[in-house]
Amino acid sequence: MPDHDVAVVGGGPVGLLLACLLAQSGVDVAVFEQRTSDDDRSRAIGIHPPGRAALDAAGVGAEAGRLALALDGGDVLCGGRVLASVSFTPRQQVLILPQRRTHALLSERLADLRPDAVHLGHAVSDVRDEGEVVRLTVESEGVAREVTASIVVAADGVRSGVRRRLGVEWRETRGSGTYAMADVADDEPGRRVSLYCEPAGIVESFPLPEGRRRWVVADPLERLRDEAAFSQEIEERTGIRPDLALPPTPFRARQHRAARAGVGRVVLLGDALHETSPIGGQGMNLGWNAARHLAAAIEKSSGGTEPDFRAYGRRALRSAARAQRRSWFYMSMGEPAHGVGLGTRNAVIRALGSPPLRRSAADLITMRGL
Ligand SMILES: Cc1cc2nc3c(=O)[nH]c(=O)nc-3n(C[C@H](O)[C@H](O)[C@H](O)COP(=O)(O)OP(=O)(O)OC[C@H]3O[C@@H](n4cnc5c(N)ncnc54)[C@H](O)[C@@H]3O)c2cc1C
Repeated sequence: MPDHDVAVVGGGPVGLLLACLLAQSGVDVAVFEQRTSDDDRSRAIGIHPPGRAALDAAGVGAEAGRLALALDGGDVLCGGRVLASVSFTPRQQVLILPQRRTHALLSERLADLRPDAVHLGHAVSDVRDEGEVVRLTVESEGVAREVTASIVVAADGVRSGVRRRLGVEWRETRGSGTYAMADVADDEPGRRVSLYCEPAGIVESFPLPEGRRRWVVADPLERLRDEAAFSQEIEERTGIRPDLALPPTPFRARQHRAARAGVGRVVLLGDALHETSPIGGQGMNLGWNAARHLAAAIEKSSGGTEPDFRAYGRRALRSAARAQRRSWFYMSMGEPAHGVGLGTRNAVIRALGSPPLRRSAADLITMRGL
């Protein structure tokens, strides 16, 4: 008998959501997370309708809705003029909640469902599929021990060690860029996103709950490393000067997909399966959506026989491919542009914001069909 029905490697938002879904169905699930404390890095903020549905399924949708800021829509601007405006219908509603808050909600929910499920400070250093079970080597405080499970889910992020050990190819897809971001205090954050598609590159401005705002700036020369340079660049592009208390965080957007989702009893999920550019805010939502399908596939697989993750993998990778094409498009709209290139780009944005296309554009932005 294996120690657990399912072992999840990685207690990020996607691994935790899957564990909640499985625990709700009575599956014996254990989560091994190398961090020793909660992850309070500032990353995902946007929860799109598929992500909201996944949070509902995991029993935390109502609480997330209570804590989050609900966006009304957004405006795309250039040179002080509004090129396009989109307002979300109730079906398209996007919530804004910092990832550390959603992470905390999911951690608490899992602790209620299965108090001993999460093992913090436990790094998985080896995975061996032995046919009937999968054997993990788990290291904690310098001591290694072996744990067995019927199924192992690798939700260990973009640099997934499990994916590497399985020998699954990690294929780069188009869409990369360098950016800097900062979350700052803001007395009147409002409920609309502003995207400044300026000749020097995009500046994104998102309202956050609790009187804060996130600024994201395209930084192709990678020089926005301190508060002054970051604020000055935003002022030059938009006329607004945010006041930063801490240095901005630089990040590089890239896109990848794994060549396959499952090998025997080991299956990839979330960023371990697909890296999607943060521009467009889809990575965590994609992972959550796929977690619902994976939970169903796991619940269907019966004890002895080898589980079949092919349908799950096809679906998850197809959704990721679509999301990555959308992110690539958003990124290309935000690149530095001048002269004819700028004029053409602004014409495309105006067309997308015009009455016949506006609703479809809002559907694309809010991850419909993924
Ligand atoms: C700036 C930025 C903004 C973003 N904004 C959005 C957004 O608005 N909306 C959106 O949907 N997405 C967004 N994303 C993407 C989102 O943050 C990721 O898609 C999401 O965190 C993926 O979750 P995950 O659980 O798959 O992986 P991760 O969050 O990376 O979690 C993986 C976990 O595995 C653990 N781990 C790794 N190796 C091991 C091991 N060997 N043993 C044990 N544990 C291990 C790690 O410590 C980590 O906790 C953004 C990303 C960035 C960088």
